[in-house]
Amino acid sequence: MHKIIDGKAIAAELLDTVAIDTAELTAAGWQQKLVAIVVGDSAPVALYVRNQRRAANRCGIDFEERTFAGDSSIDEILAAISTMNADPRVTGIIIQRPLPQHLSIRRLQSAVHPLKDVEGMHPASIGDIVYNNVRLGPCTAMASVELLRRTKLNLSGLEVTVIGHSEIVGKPIAFLLMAEGATVTVCHHMTRDLSIHSRRSDAVFVAVGKPNLVTGDMIKPGAAVIDIGINQITDEKGNPRVVGDVEFDSCESVAGWITPVPGGVGPVTVAMLMRNAVVAANRQKEHYESKFAQTTQIQS
Ligand code: NAD
Repeated sequence: MHKIIDGKAIAAELLDTVAIDTAELTAAGWQQKLVAIVVGDSAPVALYVRNQRRAANRCGIDFEERTFAGDSSIDEILAAISTMNADPRVTGIIIQRPLPQHLSIRRLQSAVHPLKDVEGMHPASIGDIVYNNVRLGPCTAMASVELLRRTKLNLSGLEVTVIGHSEIVGKPIAFLLMAEGATVTVCHHMTRDLSIHSRRSDAVFVAVGKPNLVTGDMIKPGAAVIDIGINQITDEKGNPRVVGDVEFDSCESVAGWITPVPGGVGPVTVAMLMRNAVVAANRQKEHYESKFAQTTQIQS
């Protein structure tokens, strides 16, 4: 049994499929293009953009970074999104997080045309999840559930605890799992005792943003642990390091499966973004083709 779930290998597999689908779309005259909106300067955002560009290049998808000054107004960015929505050459729009404080992510995300919502974070995309009709799902949530699927555990009736209940990660994970028949408990900052829930679960997802929040004594022996957190810390030697929300060593010794950070959810999230890019481009293609068919019917 492979105890450590290898996110890099799973991402590579997903990207290979995306590359094949992209080649088909390109041959049909649909060259995909993702535009990443970056506001201000941020080291984590620069890293996300680099990883996304690398994945897009690997699949044959064009990738453009559109940079805005940190003090740009929301109207300026909304105007740019509106132009991209109307531009048939742009097939997907990504709004890089975190944004400067004065910008409302919800307003910007809602302004992206739902057919170009490759991040799966438009309210319409989130609503699709609640109705169990996933088209463009939020990438991190989709990636996290995919990693659990790779354990081959039967999700029907599985006891799962999700720690963290944000709109883009924790809540959609809970809905995706319920759709598979899992019994889901959602914990958050007001939960009295996390371990009561985590210790009786067959799988635990952690998406909080606090290093070492979950320790081995909180995990049922043999359970799957999916660590979504990304935290920049300085280690004992004074070196910067990225860690998840899970204390890896103590959890690894009791878990049946565990995702590492880095190399777990992160790369699969980027692969899901590329998969969404293909889904979005295909939906736009169908949309234009049906419009064209309607126009020719009216003319004839
Ligand atoms: P968020 O700040 O929106 O939500 C944090 C959640 O944690 C909230 O639901 C809050 O109630 C809960 N919480 C806070 N303190 C808690 C505690 N002590 N016990 C239990 N729950 C607590 O964060 P988010 O956007 O959902 O991101 C969560 C983490 O996942 C962050 O570390 C973020 O960097 C990471 N993340 C990773 C990816 C990826 O691709 N791997 C993508 C998005 C977010």
